[in-house]
Amino acid sequence: MKALVVDKTDAGVTAAVETIDPDRLPKGEPGDQMVEVAVSHTTLNYKDGLCLTGGGGLVRTYPHVPGIDFAGTVTASDDPRYEVGDAVLLTGWRVGEVWWGGYAERARVKGEWLVPLPEGLTARQAMAVGTAGLTAMLAVVALEKHGLAPGGRPVLVTGASGGVGSVATAILGKLGYEVAAVTGRPEQADYLKALGATAIVPRADLADAPTRPLGRETYAGAVDAVGGAMLSHVLTLIGYGGSVAAVGLAGGAVMEGATVVPFLLRGVNLLGIDSVMQPREARLTAWQRVATDLPLDLLETMIVPASLEDLPALGKDILAGKVRGRVVVDLA
Ligand code: NDP
Repeated sequence: MKALVVDKTDAGVTAAVETIDPDRLPKGEPGDQMVEVAVSHTTLNYKDGLCLTGGGGLVRTYPHVPGIDFAGTVTASDDPRYEVGDAVLLTGWRVGEVWWGGYAERARVKGEWLVPLPEGLTARQAMAVGTAGLTAMLAVVALEKHGLAPGGRPVLVTGASGGVGSVATAILGKLGYEVAAVTGRPEQADYLKALGATAIVPRADLADAPTRPLGRETYAGAVDAVGGAMLSHVLTLIGYGGSVAAVGLAGGAVMEGATVVPFLLRGVNLLGIDSVMQPREARLTAWQRVATDLPLDLLETMIVPASLEDLPALGKDILAGKVRGRVVVDLA
């Protein structure tokens, strides 16, 4: 089978497409109900960029097959929930990091990690959503649970041209929110407006740590893919009782300039969003929401088609914030 294999040598981390024996796929521990999948589509997330380049110490054992998401068809199953021919997808569970992932024509994983392909989505569309899009949906669900509803102030989306940001913008737009999209790429303004953004906020306006603990109440809530000083800044601009879903760290992990004042004086909530270990039931619900709340014509405009061979270069690009929307690799 064809696979994109990363390896670590004295020269550093390399990534190349190779033909490898499917017998090398993970076998699991005794008692694991393993399922083998013919992968038809996979994608590229920020974390894949790290796994492709050796960043973040995510990959511990080499040689390794990255790919934190995949979709395809079951070819063998020990799990009674799945039969040969079933259409399935996988995101997270540290597949592609500590376990071989989706950058190969076959994958073998625990059945409990798979979810059936949601009704209404093709495998290609599901991978256009992928971890980034699922996380955007989880963020919107969390904001709704904390009281966000259309009709109030705009919702801010940071890192808007990226994967999480693009999907969050499209979902929030479809749900009837005013969406203020933060981008460092002004040339993406038309793309973001077509997705549903009603205002474009230059990254520079929010990039620095806030100079005051509270600013003007400007946004009802936020989906933040950037973290760092921008997250600190965003917290000062959220209206009374509003929430920020903290999703990512494309701009940094340390929240420079943050104070607890927005929490204490404005009742602002900071909601942590994790997609990797998200329980199965919540995943199933979120995927159903994706199928109903994400306009598929807009999803199509986010897609950057690519091959396995393209992924090493694209991995570097995504870490540099240069990928727009969502990369989809067709392996079928
Ligand atoms: P992308 O690279 O596709 O998007 C990130 C976007 O952030 C870029 O497109 C860019 O948008 C903006 N950006 C990049 N660098 C900077 C910077 N230095 N300062 C400010 N903005 C910047 O990545 P994803 O959308 O796939 O992931 C976004 C983040 O979310 C990552 O940190 C990722 O690890 C995290 N994540 C977390 C998940 C979870 O479970 N919590 C799941 C999925 C992702 P623009 O050019 O428009 O400004």
